[in-house]
Amino acid sequence: MRRNLVVGNWKMHGSHVANAELLAGILESKPYLADVAVCAPFPYLSEVAVALTGSGVYWGAQDCSAHEQGAYTGEVSAGMLHEFGCRYVIVGHSERRAYHAESDQLVADKAKAALARGVTPIVCVGETLAQREAGETEPVVKRQLSAVIHTVGHCIGEIVVAYEPVWAIGTGKTATPEQAQQVHALLRAQLHAATPHSGDMRLLYGGSVKADNAVSLFSQPDIDGGLIGGASLKAAEFTSICRAAH
Ligand code: PEP
Repeated sequence: MRRNLVVGNWKMHGSHVANAELLAGILESKPYLADVAVCAPFPYLSEVAVALTGSGVYWGAQDCSAHEQGAYTGEVSAGMLHEFGCRYVIVGHSERRAYHAESDQLVADKAKAALARGVTPIVCVGETLAQREAGETEPVVKRQLSAVIHTVGHCIGEIVVAYEPVWAIGTGKTATPEQAQQVHALLRAQLHAATPHSGDMRLLYGGSVKADNAVSLFSQPDIDGGLIGGASLKAAEFTSICRAAH
């Protein structure tokens, strides 16, 4: 039986004061039936760790390097994230693919680096609006996931996948539960061909999830929770979404 997971992606938002308020709100609404995590900007990981240690709420980062260490100015390794208690790291978010030209192979290498240090990669895949309209959703998401399957080999069962249609991120346009389920079923089938553990793997949906659409999305058979951007910055909204996943 899969346990649902709801992950807040804070993106480049936050401050000492705002983070403390948000985390207090998240902790106040415990317990949750689903696993809950927040992915904070790097400089705040230490204070997030202090606030959440022992709470049952997990934390993580929004990116990591594909390298273990070395002359890679500005990068942060998975080993460093592990030292700060990160359970998760988002890799291949569409904003990184678009603004930092991250290729499928680089994303796969980052997922591999995270797994090697015991940090679970949340691998984002998703098509742009133009790709959807051209009928390319299936080949695009399969190509993105395929790079990870081939790179991490038998460890594939340990990743979390997030289907995030690019046209739904931060736009207020959510995929319908049926559209999202259709892609999740494709991804599950692809994983099934790669690992006997596909039935235990968590596939999250991301893209303008809000408290009022979370229940219908999370009730789909292959949707095991969500990756939440904008709505994860408001404690009341985020905790309602967390409660919708059970
Ligand atoms: C995200 O950034 O991963 C995301 C899903 O953003 P939003 O919920 O704001 O669409």
